[in-house]
Amino acid sequence: MIGLINLMEETVLSKIDQLLPNTDYCKCESCRMDMAAYALNRLPAQYVQSIKGKVLYRFASSQVQNDIEVTVAVSKAIEIVGKAPHKNTNYVEEKRV
Ligand SMILES: [Zn+2]
Repeated sequence: MIGLINLMEETVLSKIDQLLPNTDYCKCESCRMDMAAYALNRLPAQYVQSIKGKVLYRFASSQVQNDIEVTVAVSKAIEIVGKAPHKNTNYVEEKRV
């Protein structure tokens, strides 16, 4: 089965796992997904072709610059969602296809 994977998705999720534990905000799955949705809607998607969920190739794009961009967006997402947890449940339902 050939499909598409948004590399930004796994990048954002791992960034949330990296930053969220250092905060006092809610860390439940619903809030994590809200944060991911918030950040992903503000970052460029990086779709790559995949087979059975495995990425065929990765863009060797400027990782460092990308990382700063992701860190800024995720930090903002954690702050926004963290201050108003469990408010954006629509986001969560949209992301769980
Ligand atoms: Zn929560």
